Amino acid sequence: MFLTHQVWSSQKPGGGYCPEPGFVLSSGGMPRTTATRCQNPGNEPYHGFEQGPIRPPSEADSLLIRVTRNCPWNRCTFCPVYKEHTFSRRPVDHVHEDIRRVAVYVAVLRAAGGIATYADAAAAAGLDDWPAFCAAANWLDAGMASVFLQDADSLVLRPAEFSGIVREIRTCFPGVERITSYARSRTVDRWSAEDLGALAGAGLNRLHIGLESGADRVLAQVQKGVTQAIHIRAGRKVVAAGMELSEYVMPGLGGRALSAEHARETAAAIRAIAPHSVRLRTLALPPGAPLVRAFRCGEFVPCRDVETMAEIRRFIAGLDGVVTRIVSDHILNLLPEIEGDLPGDRPRLLAVLDRFLALPPEEQVLFQLGRRAMIFHTLADLERPGSRDRAARLCRRLGATPHNVDEIIAALMAGFV
Ligand code: SF4
Repeated sequence: MFLTHQVWSSQKPGGGYCPEPGFVLSSGGMPRTTATRCQNPGNEPYHGFEQGPIRPPSEADSLLIRVTRNCPWNRCTFCPVYKEHTFSRRPVDHVHEDIRRVAVYVAVLRAAGGIATYADAAAAAGLDDWPAFCAAANWLDAGMASVFLQDADSLVLRPAEFSGIVREIRTCFPGVERITSYARSRTVDRWSAEDLGALAGAGLNRLHIGLESGADRVLAQVQKGVTQAIHIRAGRKVVAAGMELSEYVMPGLGGRALSAEHARETAAAIRAIAPHSVRLRTLALPPGAPLVRAFRCGEFVPCRDVETMAEIRRFIAGLDGVVTRIVSDHILNLLPEIEGDLPGDRPRLLAVLDRFLALPPEEQVLFQLGRRAMIFHTLADLERPGSRDRAARLCRRLGATPHNVDEIIAALMAGFV
């Protein structure tokens, strides 16, 4: 998960406040969070273009269209994102109106050569919706290639409604190359193959699913609400429907106790699904995640970085024969170079992990801190004298040793979620 970022999101002309990145964008004095909204919208009035808090890192340049608010499950113990917020479906006609407003502002901005003040754009569009204008301006600037449908589980919509939204986007923006969304395996599993095929036919190209683990004991421990069998069934359905499937895997999620089982069973699930990509996002313990309580009272013992690297090695070693792409697109991951196309790149990825695991403990500490402080990017950066000096100074300042480095890093990583 990744906080949204909008370039046009500072101060509304005329003194009105535009919400900071990471929160709902809406005009007309709407509440900043969704906690107070009704769960069944009924006659809910339209208050303007709306934006949810997160998107996958790969959707940084996408137009974000919010079809639901928050998460209908909201029980995963490692996830703090929507814990304070109540799930609701947005009225479908509101979503269509959001799309229409962005289309109007895009047309106005295009006619103005891409640059217009908000006052001029609002006058030309006959529309006063600052968040819609921001979304249109950012998206136009980014090339208008992709759209991401928010929030956590868009497939809770009725198939005809969701396909209708996707078709509307394709009609308004025929040049769009990719439309994607998040979904839960349990929700996908409820869709028929025909409905998923129709959704793909309407133009949804990719689903991002939080697999997290393929181990039933890990899934139960973190209250993911699915089993390995459901993950596999849902994943295969998406692939069979002709959509691209991106599965998120969370190294470290089983803690020390279930690390080996987590690696083994997650590899088994990925072998069975053969998704187009597997995105690694290492476990962090951010404030607000219920798992933090289990950590504090000693019920959950997290893996140290070195143990997580050994776990990832076991996982990738278990991906024998799978055709997929491993992606490491988050700062939470220690080794961003664990990225490549399987099966061809598998020996290289294993060699990178072996290289890290064979480093002397002091070198591992240097890399761990240097990477999290963004001094190093890859293991090869350990050879750069200037970067080494900076990382060594940081280690000395923080008093980092092989014994305390994971506690220091845990505090750093909590801020990256
Ligand atoms: S399903 Fe996703 S968004 Fe919902 S609680 Fe779990 S991890 Fe968080």
